[in-house]
Amino acid sequence: MLEKIVIANRGEIALRVLRACQALGIKTVAVHSTVDRNLKHVAMADESVCIGPAPPRDSYLNIPAIIAAAEVTDAQGIHPGYGFLSENADFAERVEQSGFVFIGPRAETIRLMGDKVSAITAMKEAGVPCVPGSGKPLGDDPVENAAIAKRIGYPVIIKAAGGGGGRGMRVVHTEMALLNAVSMTRAEARAAFGNDQVYLEKYLENPRHIEIQVLADSHGNAIHLGERDCSMQRRHQKVIEEAPAPGISEKQRQEIGAVCVEACKRIGYRGAGTFEFLFERGQFYFIEMNTRIQVEHPVTEMVTGVDLVTEQLRVASGEKLRYKQSDIQLRGHAIECRVNAEDPNTFTPSPGTVSRYHPPGGPGIRVETHLYDGYRIPPNYDAMIAKLIAHGPDRATAIARMRVALSEFVIEGIKTNIPLQQQNMLDQMFQVGGFNIHYLERRLAEARK
Ligand code: ADP
Repeated sequence: MLEKIVIANRGEIALRVLRACQALGIKTVAVHSTVDRNLKHVAMADESVCIGPAPPRDSYLNIPAIIAAAEVTDAQGIHPGYGFLSENADFAERVEQSGFVFIGPRAETIRLMGDKVSAITAMKEAGVPCVPGSGKPLGDDPVENAAIAKRIGYPVIIKAAGGGGGRGMRVVHTEMALLNAVSMTRAEARAAFGNDQVYLEKYLENPRHIEIQVLADSHGNAIHLGERDCSMQRRHQKVIEEAPAPGISEKQRQEIGAVCVEACKRIGYRGAGTFEFLFERGQFYFIEMNTRIQVEHPVTEMVTGVDLVTEQLRVASGEKLRYKQSDIQLRGHAIECRVNAEDPNTFTPSPGTVSRYHPPGGPGIRVETHLYDGYRIPPNYDAMIAKLIAHGPDRATAIARMRVALSEFVIEGIKTNIPLQQQNMLDQMFQVGGFNIHYLERRLAEARK
């Protein structure tokens, strides 16, 4: 087992990784920016190193500073969490070249999956169903691009090959709009991701977002842990996630799960990962793979009983998977509400000092957060400040528990989206389940009228 690791992240996920390390007896090194000295996990870690000023590029994206922190503290591995450097293949490579264990897949796997075009090609070869699309980066010939779009059929979506975080996408309904959309997405992609390759795929009009969690070791073993439904989205970003997905049969789960497991074995996947699909009219369409732990991993943990972060650490230590596919049984239903420091109506970020903090509790309630009384949320990072997870024997119970927990949750001094999440729990369509990825956005637009 690894003896000491650097946690190259901040906030709730850094704390989540720290707790898993402590339970396994792994020593921890917290690295933080100058505005993050007060993070809860920094206080709890065995050691901490300041790696630079507040802007992420100077600290949490500062590869030499993070590797230096591992060197001076004699750590053996680096856990990247999610976001920041977690899907940066160059980082994974530098970590391993410097003699540390990267707690995630091999750099070449990250590189393969980090480019959505090469990911789709690899997945097609592995027999994973994909959205019909260009299958290659678009060139600059408008006639050829128009022919590709026509073959696939409008509407189409232009996407950045190196995109992420719901950015770098444009829906196109007509050939007239195509030329402009390609050049605009390309310019955006160049500026945002440093990669101007774009591709095109069929725009599915009413899909759900359903993803499969996988876990693989470095000995050729892989399993899936069922699916999550992440269709409650705003601006292509997830707001609520749940497991299992309403209406997915055990047969469908095992079929798509087996396809993902096969794909993992084929590409030599290692660690925790997620295959993201759009799901429409009973069909799964692969859109991308996340080669890291995801924000929404707790809902899978609640229904499977598997601690995914612990398994990441075990796999990175060279252990064989402790679970066979038949060990994975789903129990009940779990829902996660993301709690953001933002205005619930305008969605403007609301950083500042948390003057009063009281977390909810009770059966099936789990809170993942770094907040505490008096903690000051800096304005420099993501608005997500907590995740509230409710588990119950069935979906209705999980919703009821979530409703009560949200009403109990006290976070004062800043604005949060808790009022919006309370509305979501009372929403008729949410209670039925199985809504598509546009549902929340359309409801919010209705409410503004
Ligand atoms: P990112 O890496 O930025 O998260 P994804 O490829 O995972 O990008 O897509 C994010 C979201 O964008 C999806 O959950 C879905 O809402 C929407 N989306 C992406 N591709 C399509 C498509 N072909 N048709 C319809 N919606 C799409």
